Amino acid sequence: MTSTTSTMMDVPLTIDLIVDRAERWMGDGEVVSRRPDKRLTRTTYRAVVERARRLARALIGAGIARGDRVATLMWNHSEHLEAYFGIPLAGAVTHTLNLRLHPDEIAYVASDAGDRIVIVDDVLVPLLDKVIAAGGRFERVIVVGNPGDHEPYEAFLAGAPDAALPLLAETDPLATCYTSGTTGKPKGVVYSHRSTLLHTLVAALPDALDLSRGDTLLPVVPMFHVNAWGLPYVAAMTGAKLVFPGPHLDPPSLLDLLAGERVTVAAGVPTIWLGIREAMDAAPDRWKLMPGLRMIVGGSAAPEQLIRDFDRLGMTLLHAWGMTEMSPLGLVSRVPPELADADEATRYRIRARQGVPPPLVDLRIRNEAGDVPRDDKTSGEILCRGPWIAGSYFHGAAPEKWTTDGFFRTGDVARIDQHGFVQLTDRIADLIKSGGEWIASQELENALMGHPAVREAAVIGVPHPKWSERPVALYVLKPGATASADELRAFLAARFPKFWLPDAFEEIDAIPRTSAGKFRKTELRQRYQGHFAPR
Ligand code: ADP
Repeated sequence: MTSTTSTMMDVPLTIDLIVDRAERWMGDGEVVSRRPDKRLTRTTYRAVVERARRLARALIGAGIARGDRVATLMWNHSEHLEAYFGIPLAGAVTHTLNLRLHPDEIAYVASDAGDRIVIVDDVLVPLLDKVIAAGGRFERVIVVGNPGDHEPYEAFLAGAPDAALPLLAETDPLATCYTSGTTGKPKGVVYSHRSTLLHTLVAALPDALDLSRGDTLLPVVPMFHVNAWGLPYVAAMTGAKLVFPGPHLDPPSLLDLLAGERVTVAAGVPTIWLGIREAMDAAPDRWKLMPGLRMIVGGSAAPEQLIRDFDRLGMTLLHAWGMTEMSPLGLVSRVPPELADADEATRYRIRARQGVPPPLVDLRIRNEAGDVPRDDKTSGEILCRGPWIAGSYFHGAAPEKWTTDGFFRTGDVARIDQHGFVQLTDRIADLIKSGGEWIASQELENALMGHPAVREAAVIGVPHPKWSERPVALYVLKPGATASADELRAFLAARFPKFWLPDAFEEIDAIPRTSAGKFRKTELRQRYQGHFAPR
């Protein structure tokens, strides 16, 4: 007997499947960009794809070969979308440089990635000059907008030769992003066509981010941060209208854009939504938003209070968790049908968790004893495996981040409840070790941010002569609110063991943040390291 083989076509899962479809079937879909002077420009998927193909041919004409890296230093706008498609269509790899990093760091990652050409916004040329002064080397600098002494992007496109675009393989690299380097040097993650296509398909699913052609999507999350969480690809795949904020990320500008373009889905880190909530509370009648506006929030934990506050304003926060190494989607939290009729407190508790993994992500929580039970108590590290999860870093850096059985070690600590909902409790690097016991700083922060007077709170471990480390809570109050240290300690005492309660509560003006809007705890630890030193 002969063995059976599949009779199906072996079509490579490459990004041109999305790009061609956007042009041919979603061509009139709108792409709106806010410019530095606040003007709005409008174009279509048809025009974006046509220009992306021209960019691809121009890059080939400029000698860019398969697998070469081409950098972008840009805000979110339609030319950045052209680069997202055009660079991979040339067979090259898009390296989105993070403009919030120090010029030395940008120069480091550009050289680590071996970027040959950079496409840069005119308003960011002064930053690029600093990157170059810090040792960044690019063969060509191509400027979108007013070129000054550099080569104009429009002329680069206009000069595109009649080159054929390469046939792509699904395992070809498509884009690279660097981790923020909170621990050690930034490390490169290189996404493939296949990983990106599969991530795009799953991200759009109703139980994941739930995006479709009828949506208008505003990615506040920068396109230089994990490919704006993959949302530009999802928008092009579904044909959803895209609205880009350019450099204007202050709450009133974002609210004007959300209301003016009738946005249905927006995505950003918790700080963005905190600012939006405050602006709306300060001027409740100023903005007419789409009823039911959905906001995807991730990057750091979404405080439960924020989810409640937005419900009050008629908007829905959707909490998701991910990482640069995970493209980024790893968990999404939606109330499951069996809890739809549960009491309000339970439903909010579920929504404030990080959630359950989407299809194709194999997620485990493991400690020394093995996979943790679903008791919502035992914690362990989150390990992941899947087609859009990094199997290594560029240049083979940090191989210890993978287990011998092929899982990526996320460095995040979590527990899991009986319904399968994951609750992050800390990053391993932020855990506090006091008298031989572990204290999870994020759990304390999440609870403190539930106090009505607290806007934001960070809890850090500070060296202590007797206990090795003790927690210290740093907090920012809401405008006009007051709360004493005793009151905050009593608030936490109701829900945590005594030894978890911070030894000190200090009000500060602002919590320092990383380029991606996360609390910069290393800086806080430095600032407070002598707090318990014997005098
Ligand atoms: P980096 O790891 O370089 O700081 P990433 O953007 O890849 O940059 O950050 C991933 C990390 O961000 C996760 O490992 C996790 O600690 C944190 N994170 C992301 N989403 C959430 C979330 N919803 N809740 C809590 N932490 C989150």
